[in-house]
Amino acid sequence: MPIAKSCGCPELDLSRWDQKVQKLDVHFYSIPILHLFYAPVAADRKLAEAEARAVSSGYHLPAVPMRLVRAARFLGGSAIVEIKEVGLGDRQVFRFSGAYPCTVFRGPRRELPKRIRAMHAADPNLESVYLWNVTCPRCAPDEKDRVTILIAETLVGSE
Ligand SMILES: [Zn+2]
Repeated sequence: MPIAKSCGCPELDLSRWDQKVQKLDVHFYSIPILHLFYAPVAADRKLAEAEARAVSSGYHLPAVPMRLVRAARFLGGSAIVEIKEVGLGDRQVFRFSGAYPCTVFRGPRRELPKRIRAMHAADPNLESVYLWNVTCPRCAPDEKDRVTILIAETLVGSE
């Protein structure tokens, strides 16, 4: 479980996430989010909305939840927030279970769509890319220092 920096972002050992395969078993509450060519529309607002709806649906968030955006070209993307409850049948609840290749991206968020397109082009088995912004303007004032963890979900081998 990560601890929080004073701004609320998770304090992570990025070397454990860069070019590493993570074994993850995490449940999330999920809501749809529109994308325009892999750029999420109002990602921060949608993540806050997912969090509020999870809580109002009776779920509990860990102290420092993973907050991810499942990238899509247009439709099919989602804003997902980690919840503590497991094994529930709610259709808004989504689970990571298995091994997920992760990489660390440093730089402005606007450069991410190009990176995601390149990942899809390089791997036909890549199902989805999830983005985890682990910095904010307070802890990384310069856009080139923003850190996003990219989590890959492949069609084969993630179970
Ligand atoms: Zn921060």
